[in-house]
Amino acid sequence: MIMKTLGPMIASLLLVARVAAQAPPKSQPPIWSAKPDVAAFEAAENDRLASVQHAVEQIVAVKGARTVDNTLALFDEATRQLNAAYYLASTMEQVHPDPTFRDHASAMVRKASAVQTALSLNRDVFDALAGLDLSGADAATRYYVHRQLLEFRLAGVDKDDATRARLKKLNDQLTNDQSMFERNIADGQNTIEVADASELDGLPQDYLESHNPGADGKIHITTNYPDIFPPLKYSKSDALRRRLEVAFDTRAYPKNRDVLKDMMRTRYKIATLLGYSSWADYYAADKMIRNGKSIADFIQQLDAAARPSMEREFALLLAQKQKTHPEAKEIWDYEHAYLTELVRRSKYDFDSQAVRPYLPYPRVKQGILDTAAALFHVSFRQELNVPSWDPSVETWDVIDGGKMVGRFYLDMHPRPGKYSHDEMAPLLDGIRGKQLPEAVLVCNLPAPTATDPGLMDYDDVVTFFHEFGHLMHHILGGQQQWAGISGISMEQDFVEAPSQMLEEWMHSPQVLASFARNYKTGEPIPSELVARMNRASAFGRASDVAAQDTYTAISYDMYKSKPEDVDPNAVCLSEMRRLNLLSVTPESTDMYAAFDHLAGYSSAYYTYMWDKVIAEDFFLQFDQKDLFAGDTPARYRHLVLEPGGSESASDLVKNFLGRPQNTAAFQHWMDEEFRSPSTSPSPSAQ
Ligand SMILES: [Zn+2]
Repeated sequence: MIMKTLGPMIASLLLVARVAAQAPPKSQPPIWSAKPDVAAFEAAENDRLASVQHAVEQIVAVKGARTVDNTLALFDEATRQLNAAYYLASTMEQVHPDPTFRDHASAMVRKASAVQTALSLNRDVFDALAGLDLSGADAATRYYVHRQLLEFRLAGVDKDDATRARLKKLNDQLTNDQSMFERNIADGQNTIEVADASELDGLPQDYLESHNPGADGKIHITTNYPDIFPPLKYSKSDALRRRLEVAFDTRAYPKNRDVLKDMMRTRYKIATLLGYSSWADYYAADKMIRNGKSIADFIQQLDAAARPSMEREFALLLAQKQKTHPEAKEIWDYEHAYLTELVRRSKYDFDSQAVRPYLPYPRVKQGILDTAAALFHVSFRQELNVPSWDPSVETWDVIDGGKMVGRFYLDMHPRPGKYSHDEMAPLLDGIRGKQLPEAVLVCNLPAPTATDPGLMDYDDVVTFFHEFGHLMHHILGGQQQWAGISGISMEQDFVEAPSQMLEEWMHSPQVLASFARNYKTGEPIPSELVARMNRASAFGRASDVAAQDTYTAISYDMYKSKPEDVDPNAVCLSEMRRLNLLSVTPESTDMYAAFDHLAGYSSAYYTYMWDKVIAEDFFLQFDQKDLFAGDTPARYRHLVLEPGGSESASDLVKNFLGRPQNTAAFQHWMDEEFRSPSTSPSPSAQ
């Protein structure tokens, strides 16, 4: 199966208030200003790690009563320095163009992680925080300490010396394996050679123009997203799509088979040493979902919700296939995107290529900036001539009420050796009055060139909105008093809610009309095309939810029991069959080796759908006729984004909705294709 979510789509039109902005503080130059070589990078990183050590020594040396000033402030300084060291190293590991630099960055990731592990097991620091007098502290500070003590206990700080030493070793090992798993995927690019150009029949013209035959007379298609997704969707050749699917699914196989097994074993040992029966249970303990059983229940709940619509979608896809293969009874995984596209064309009279000319990268970028500016009541200003690790990277300031409140970098297009998915990576935690939040978007979207306008698919634009949602969360949540509760530091299974909420803006004709213009004629996207696109895009949602549920189940199964009992290929096959109606190409069960969430997210891939439920609930609170109207945008910013990690995620949800989340809005979103356009559930349904 191909790892990519298919989202909704949109656009809108917004006014950006251009305010007279203050210059960025001199004390905080852009992250790459000094253009560090390997030696300078390592020196700066080592300085930060030394500051962590220094702060820890100061905490331990305090005599007398423990106060917020003499203890928590130092602990937070250690957190700030450690996070900054880790963020920069892990980002450079993913984006630096020089492989030698990436190797040094990987080593630095391991070093910073080791410092993190040592700190999390430091009994003296734990005792110091546990002994704090918080009687005069505000609610955010008390919540911060409460969460930190929980994290310390989950790290095993209160275990005996021998156990703590063992945990430290296991965590260091885990960091190595995670890093190797991810790098094997980034470096594992496969290339397919196409000798017969007719296999590309059906592909858009700009794709064909940027894929001319090489010196060997063959066309080369890599497993990079912009290369591989168009043919999977448009190529009329089953044989080509099958070859591409296999190349994509196996790009880190068999290399990552043993790496995954090692990660599973190490995680199981950590969990059992800490008194949990599985990694999935242990890893859920500091999250909204609480335990592994709830993940299993949620997988069932999603399946039940998706199945009726998924079956109706499957029947339409099969009927489409039977037009050319009358005897067909099944649909293969590598046919799914292609057939979905055909149904969208025939049943909904929508050809997704028809919108691509309206979505050249530069326009989309401006449209997303304008949308975010109007929604969040901020503005953006580009800093020009700023050095970066690659010449394509842009630097932007976020301005709020005339004041600079953050900075971000856009590293948006593929390069050899670069991280091959899309993500928002923090670079600095925001601390009110002390440090501006900074982050980078690392994406793999089509790049405009002198001869190629960089036309984007609907899904690409959704991805851009999604990552921008993370970015705004990090920046607007980055105005807290402490680094440890800044930005997206809350429970990990909440962080995909604001990003998926912003995806919904792509559905708004109002939003789309504001920026989508034909790259040749300048003509705005016709509203009638947007209406057809929205109807067509609703088709396939239940199948997508089923695919996401399958990945969720794979991620959970790998970590729900003893590693000796788990055969990764068998897990993939059985979950693909249980939760999905597509027939599975045998090599597709190797996809886990390229499923990079198994490293970082481990058993918590459920987060995406868990947060999709929350995101849809949030979205229906906005005025559906004018998404920017009323006080909902301001309430959303104030109650959901700005608190960062200063209160529990469940409280953020309740504060905005007035109740806990439920699945009514999610179900409504999923079934939209089979309903008349006018019905909508009551957003305040309990
Ligand atoms: Zn995300």
